[in-house]
Amino acid sequence: MVFCMLTGKTALITGGAKGIGRAIALKVAQSHGNVALMYRGSQKNAEDTVAELSDLGIEARSYQCDVSDFNATKTIVTQVVQDFGDLDILVNNAGITNDKLLIAMKEEDFDSVIATNLKGAFNMTKHAGTYLLKKRKGRIINISSISGLMGNVGQCNYAAAKAGLIGLTKSTAKEMAMRGVTCNAIAPGFIDTDMTKELKPEIKAEILKQIPLKRLGDADDIANLCVYLGSELAGYITGEVIKIDGGLYI
Ligand code: NDP
Repeated sequence: MVFCMLTGKTALITGGAKGIGRAIALKVAQSHGNVALMYRGSQKNAEDTVAELSDLGIEARSYQCDVSDFNATKTIVTQVVQDFGDLDILVNNAGITNDKLLIAMKEEDFDSVIATNLKGAFNMTKHAGTYLLKKRKGRIINISSISGLMGNVGQCNYAAAKAGLIGLTKSTAKEMAMRGVTCNAIAPGFIDTDMTKELKPEIKAEILKQIPLKRLGDADDIANLCVYLGSELAGYITGEVIKIDGGLYI
């Protein structure tokens, strides 16, 4: 289904070449928004995604950047604003897992997950937020996780990063509200992407038993809400954490 909720808007999506980020990029384009997608290593995916987005008649470009690199993210945000002439929506979607029990977790396992999932969002929010504040309008959407709300065995690094992202969301919402910029978080449950493909079948079966809607989520389930939160319709929503988890948290 095609909506025109984002006509004339430009969205910058981190990790936009695959998985949930790619679904968000496609949904933004189907809603007539322009897309700047950032990727770290998936160049072929990024090129294919840009080609598919461009076929929808919007402007799309890809940018290679590691979100944990403060200076590189600043350069990319400046480049995006120059290329597109504007920026309206930032989606902090890039994320990694490196699951281990706390007792077996190495310092670098913890640090790398925090650096991408939490510091990466800080970097992007600082640089893009500076532009949005000057413009006195904008939307920031952070992809957190149900793990950040519930904790999860084997994910102390990831859960800490995603819980931190919720703190970042609420603080950003309070700081930026007076300049017309909203900031919200989405907390997905188990979504069918490469990230969850690594789960062993018996673990997946156990998870499914706990999900009232009895299925893993689809990347589009997240993308749909992203488009809404990025649109004019969501102008009075800020500082929220919205779960999309098939009822897992109930
Ligand atoms: P994928 O592994 O499919 O995609 C992750 C994306 O993040 C890739 O595009 C990857 O880019 C990008 N990325 C990773 N590290 C970096 C980095 N340092 N700099 C820039 N980009 C980076 O995962 P999903 O699509 O499933 O996950 C998307 C988001 O949703 C993540 O934040 C994840 O934590 C969150 N989430 C996912 C859930 C799920 O069940 N799938 C549940 C809850 C939350 P590249 O491939 O180029 O490296």
